[in-house]
Amino acid sequence: MKKIPLKSKNKFFGDPKNGGFGGQYVPEILRPALLELEIAYQKIFPTKAYQDEFKALCKHFIGRPTPLIHAKNASKALSNEIYLKFEGLANTGAHKINNALGQVLLAKKMGKKRVIAETGAGQHGLAVASACAKLGMECEIYMGEIDAVRQKPNVFNMELFGAKVIHVTSGSKTLKDAVNETLRVWSNNSTDTFYVLGSALGPYPYPDLVRELQSVIGKEVKLQCKDYFQGLPDYLVACVGGGSNSMGFFSSFINEAVCLIGVEAGGIGKESGQNAARMDQSGTGRVGIAQGYKSIFLQNDEGQLASTHSISAGLDYAGIGPQLAYLGSIKRVEFINATDEEALRALQFFAKNEGIIPALESSHALAGAIKISQKLKNKKIIINVSGRGDKDIFITAKALHSDSWAKFLQEEIKRLEIESAKGKK
Ligand SMILES: *Cc1c(COP(=O)(O)O)cnc(C)c1O
Repeated sequence: MKKIPLKSKNKFFGDPKNGGFGGQYVPEILRPALLELEIAYQKIFPTKAYQDEFKALCKHFIGRPTPLIHAKNASKALSNEIYLKFEGLANTGAHKINNALGQVLLAKKMGKKRVIAETGAGQHGLAVASACAKLGMECEIYMGEIDAVRQKPNVFNMELFGAKVIHVTSGSKTLKDAVNETLRVWSNNSTDTFYVLGSALGPYPYPDLVRELQSVIGKEVKLQCKDYFQGLPDYLVACVGGGSNSMGFFSSFINEAVCLIGVEAGGIGKESGQNAARMDQSGTGRVGIAQGYKSIFLQNDEGQLASTHSISAGLDYAGIGPQLAYLGSIKRVEFINATDEEALRALQFFAKNEGIIPALESSHALAGAIKISQKLKNKKIIINVSGRGDKDIFITAKALHSDSWAKFLQEEIKRLEIESAKGKK
């Protein structure tokens, strides 16, 4: 097997003239800010001082290493040896904190005062706000107004962390407008402000920086395997939104004889707008350039980003990180997808059999593993459970027990009204 380089070369994964992905397609006004980040990535990020401090925070603040669990009951039911890397036990409930904390620490070492980030469902914003609280940085989170209303619990927690949540009222008032607004603010204030990007995508150097920060997942797995078996696992399975948990998980195994499976959101159907399966050969994913990088995007005939659907907010995105697009194009990573329905079933199966509540995103990885295990026997399959599912209760409870959940919510409102009426007297 020819060795695949882990880092981008000249800002691209693969040859930019021949099927490569990545790059730095940004307006002139953002170039100085990105150049400063590139220099920090080369000069500060690799230093012992930075790396030691990051490691200490991983251990004492995030709670790393997160466990590798041998899922014995699921193994028996699925006729394969199933292991779960449980990122859900990381502080704030998912792998996102690894990246957020690493970037906020870099910002601090660069002498920045303020951190900004965009967020859709709020998970990235939550992780950034937590990291800023820990490291004493000012924090502004840009969120589309519609998202901010929909994701009230995350907004509430971000504000507890001391972050200012800014409602973006332009355009469709969702994630892509929040991205635009964050970039606008960054381009005007890059001297004192750092932009924390939430996944392994965007213009160079973010895809490399984010992968390296998330690579702690795969490094731990490689060591933790030894508690259970000799040698390597046969399969690694991860869900793919932008690609940060999967790239961090896969990166220690890229040049090993291990099958790497990325699971995308199959949503509610194959039609455009019903899923977020960018790498699905039968879908509308095509090469394009958007939001600063060249990759595979779900797009319409005019090249505009298509709308997407997934039950899990974290997988509901039209683009995929450039390194995964590249690894998919050379067939190093195989992509499958899981529907909303399959993810919900996998969530119930692993909750009942293994005593964990996976995030809906992670439930796609679990569903993917259930699918592949049907054609395999006695293989060692490790699934990255990127987050825990507490955050999803408003979605899962509605999907699985809608009547009793509706009743509970109605009674909560009644209690609230009674209490506030008492308060007014
Ligand atoms: C955001 C999120 C994802 C998707 O993002 P990636 O960058 O692809 O990892 C997956 N799982 C959880 C729990 C998330 O919060």
